[in-house]
Order: sequence, then C-alpha cells, then structure tokens
Amino acid sequence: MRKPGSKERIRRFLLAHIGQVVTSIQIRDAAGKGVSEWARRVRELREQEGWPIITHNDSADLKPGQYLLNEKPPKKKGVRFSQGISAKLRAEVLDRNGFTCQMCGLAPGDIDSATGRKVRLHIGHIKDKSLGGKDELSNLRALCSTCNQGAKNITGEKPTGMWLLSQIRRAGQDEQRAVFDWLRKKFGA
Ligand SMILES: [Zn+2]
Repeated sequence: MRKPGSKERIRRFLLAHIGQVVTSIQIRDAAGKGVSEWARRVRELREQEGWPIITHNDSADLKPGQYLLNEKPPKKKGVRFSQGISAKLRAEVLDRNGFTCQMCGLAPGDIDSATGRKVRLHIGHIKDKSLGGKDELSNLRALCSTCNQGAKNITGEKPTGMWLLSQIRRAGQDEQRAVFDWLRKKFGA
C-alpha cells in the first residue's frame, strides 16, 4: 500500500468543505507542494469513487476552476476490483469502458433501480478464469455489482444505433433532454 498521498489529502480537504465552492488553487494547495496531478486525483474521486464533485461543466453557477462537493460522498469506493489484476490494468479497463457497466450502462454514483443502491463498478472477466480466461485487457470489462452477479437479464451485446434512436424517439422530453445533456457533455459539442 502507498502511504496516504495527495489523493487522501484532497479527500480530507473536500470533506471539510462539503457544500462550499472551492477553487482549483485551494485543492492544489491541499494536495501538497509539487503535486501537479491534483486534477487527475479529483477526476478519480468523481469517476472511480462516485464523489458528487460538481464543476462548471455541471452547473452554470460555477466558474472554470471552481469545484463543489455537493453532499457526503458514498462511504465506500465506487469501484471494486477483482484480486490479482494490477492497478494499471484496472485503470485501463475502466478508462476503455468509460467508467460504465458494459451490460446495463450504469455508472458509479447512479442509482441502480434493481437494488435502490448506488452503483459500484467491478472488473469482470469476459471469459471466466475457470474456463481459461486471462487477466488481460481484451478479457476484462467493467460491470456493476448487479450485472457482475448475473442478476440482470441483459445480454452482453451492445445496442445498435437504430435501436437506441428508436428508444430515444419514444422517450419523454425530459428523458430526451437528459440524453442530449449527457451526449453534449461527453462530446463537448
Ligand atoms: Zn450493470
């Protein structure tokens, strides 16, 4: 285990400022001198641990360089890992999978309607290890707890564009707007 580093210091700083707007300079100072990676650490807290850290991308009330931890973050980490998979490989899998369950599409911090709980991601094997599947990028994927347990009746096949469009067309305006906002955030249009 690494000694408590910049991420832990950022955690403590943000926890001490729940509900208050803080600046990137404050976070950088909290991370410690010479730590240039504070932005990445903040992103990890958001994406891997489901911390509700809001930026100007999420709220028109915030300016660039301002951050707001809106509420108490989930107690446990948003991502749990299979043992024996290196941290580097886990990070590659999560990054490639966009921090999204590859079966149901939920992300850390989303509420899973199947359980009513916040989603946590696991790293799962596509071909099980007992069947000879390897701990390598091509055989790993991000799955939420529910899908990891095989508890959702969803196939592993990705939805087609045609099917997605048909679903979006028949959705309500609020849902269409949510899809629009998500895509705009993702592609920065
Ligand atoms: Zn899932």
